[in-house]
Amino acid sequence: MLLYCRFGWVTWPQPNREPVTLFYFEPVTLLQRRGGTHGAMGFLFAMGASGCLVAIGLQHLKSQNERRAFTLIELLVVIAIIAILAGLLLPALAKAQSKARAASCMSGLHQLGLGIQMYADDHGGYFPETTHGTSATNRSWIFTLRPYVGNVDAIRACPSDPLRKARLTNQASSYIPNEYVMVDLVGPFGGVTESFRRMDTLRNPTDTITLFEVATDKEPSLSNDHTHSRNWGQGGWDAVLADIQPDRHGNGAASPRHDSGRANELMACGHVSSVSAALLKARIDRGENIARPPD
Ligand SMILES: [Zn+2]
Ligand SMILES: [Zn+2]
Repeated sequence: MLLYCRFGWVTWPQPNREPVTLFYFEPVTLLQRRGGTHGAMGFLFAMGASGCLVAIGLQHLKSQNERRAFTLIELLVVIAIIAILAGLLLPALAKAQSKARAASCMSGLHQLGLGIQMYADDHGGYFPETTHGTSATNRSWIFTLRPYVGNVDAIRACPSDPLRKARLTNQASSYIPNEYVMVDLVGPFGGVTESFRRMDTLRNPTDTITLFEVATDKEPSLSNDHTHSRNWGQGGWDAVLADIQPDRHGNGAASPRHDSGRANELMACGHVSSVSAALLKARIDRGENIARPPD
């Protein structure tokens, strides 16, 4: 018999990310035993803001005329069941949630890819610009793309980026354009010595990376809107890690060298790939500059 019902929510603020909110619902029922009522028992269901069940619990509320509380065995059984359920459910839920985030990131990148394609069609085949070498911040790609994507704010932050909120407020993005395709190499006398900025002249758009997932260590600022991938050849994996987060979508804890897990990359042809960090590092270690558009 239902005695009463409690429900509500608690919120814990988190630095640099959205607060964690837990909703709970606890029906409390009377415990009937031979010889009368023996107190009440509450069944606690707690849910995260994303809707997944994060905890179930039991609590025994004593009544004054109670002769016998839970025996130790009963209590241990309940604890064991909760532990087993949590052990079974939580990793599966975490994995499902991380998969869903990676898929949502992919879809955002895909839309950005379509926006870049449309921008290039309207601008003589050229990729959008970045803030490299200019203080005109309104020329940053994420602004010039606005008219070409429905709602750029809905797609410029990756759901797995721990700094997504800061990037949104600082007019930045979780995605960082490849320097090669959005910045010309300028010689000492001001002449352009290397340019891959025209999308329609790329030799191999299926193998040319346009957007990477930005490094978490990269400060969320408007001017951090392009990699310095022309330095990756010399700087190796450390230079790569200064610009991009190759393990943004990993399972479990990140490895210290960020060489396990995966990250999404947008190709110039509009395709989005989920790339293994280990594979990327192996290519960099071989001396390959994976950001340079192939000839
Ligand atoms: Zn992502
Ligand atoms: Zn630059």
